Amino acid sequence: MSISNLTYLDHNATTPMKPAVRDIMLETLDFPGNASAIHKAGRDARRRIEESRQQLATALNTGARDVIVFTSSATEANNLALLGAGMERVITSSIEHPSVLNVAAPNKTLLPTLHDGTVDLNALEHLLVGQTEQTLISVMLVNNETGVIQPIYKIVALARTHGALVHTDAVQAFGKIPLDVQKLGADFITLSAHKMGGPQGVGCLVIANCVAVTPQIRGGNQEKNLRSGTENLAGIVAFGHAARLVDVAGFEKLGLWRDKIETTLKAAAPMLKIYGDTAPRIANTSMFALPGASSETQLIALDLAGICVSNGSACSSGTVKPSHVLKAMGASDAEATSSLRVSLGWNTTEAEVDLFIAKWLEMFERVKSRL
Ligand code: PLP
Repeated sequence: MSISNLTYLDHNATTPMKPAVRDIMLETLDFPGNASAIHKAGRDARRRIEESRQQLATALNTGARDVIVFTSSATEANNLALLGAGMERVITSSIEHPSVLNVAAPNKTLLPTLHDGTVDLNALEHLLVGQTEQTLISVMLVNNETGVIQPIYKIVALARTHGALVHTDAVQAFGKIPLDVQKLGADFITLSAHKMGGPQGVGCLVIANCVAVTPQIRGGNQEKNLRSGTENLAGIVAFGHAARLVDVAGFEKLGLWRDKIETTLKAAAPMLKIYGDTAPRIANTSMFALPGASSETQLIALDLAGICVSNGSACSSGTVKPSHVLKAMGASDAEATSSLRVSLGWNTTEAEVDLFIAKWLEMFERVKSRL
């Protein structure tokens, strides 16, 4: 998409709001009601929130006993699941988003990752056999840096055999691959609106089968007492609408352009290392390293051409650090600090893809003699 002449190819960091979602959000911003008030305006606000919850429930095929709790972000939903489940032990993976990795747990074990970017199921089974502690397994459904789809169905099956609960951060999966909460069978599922055409600052936690959770934000008892605070009405309404507009089949077509990027770059630069390409991946994401050319060099060259890509996960400090995901996949420091992530989205055009390819190749021509 062009925003002030920018070529925006960083959709895994945040994807622009879809126009119809923006329209509904703007309209709702003018609405005065507090959903906890009993007068008409309050009741209308409540109705709008419940409609949004229903839209999400339909899009996700949640079951009758599943609860959707709106939060301020996926980060908050991850905190609610990990801390609120109150388990004695948490098994998580080395490739999780910091909102899982950095959340304190009394007894946390990190699962190793295989070279293809999927978590090591044998290691998980080994950890679960004979365990007696109440355990929560938290593994993301899709990795935000590589786009690799994790074997959550197998993880849920292992968890059931060994009496553990499962949380999955499905932020990068919603709208990108089919997501059916009942089929998935996880106990907690985290989602974020701004990764699928909704606004920033709203997320949710799906709690399956009314599993007990201790609220982490207390006060006014909103959200069935699971998350206090006046609801972000406009954000929640927009989230529900974005869920209605999910188009997985349309999204999957981006794979053609992702493949075009990878094939063209690799033909010019055979030393390019593409991550996760031997595992199942979502269609829009390419993470690769050009050993010898730092992420900064590549990012700055592309930024000067008005192209927004990233070196992996968005970093709050704005600094470029080696990707912990690539390191977990066995990448060297040199590789992990020379990586670039391109993530396409619902409004990407082929002209933008071609511009990215042309500018990256120009950058490569300038640096190749020094590699
Ligand atoms: N989990 C994953 C996999 C993400 O990609 C992100 C965002 O980068 C988050 C969680 C955090 O989402 P939010 O910005 O809604 O807190």
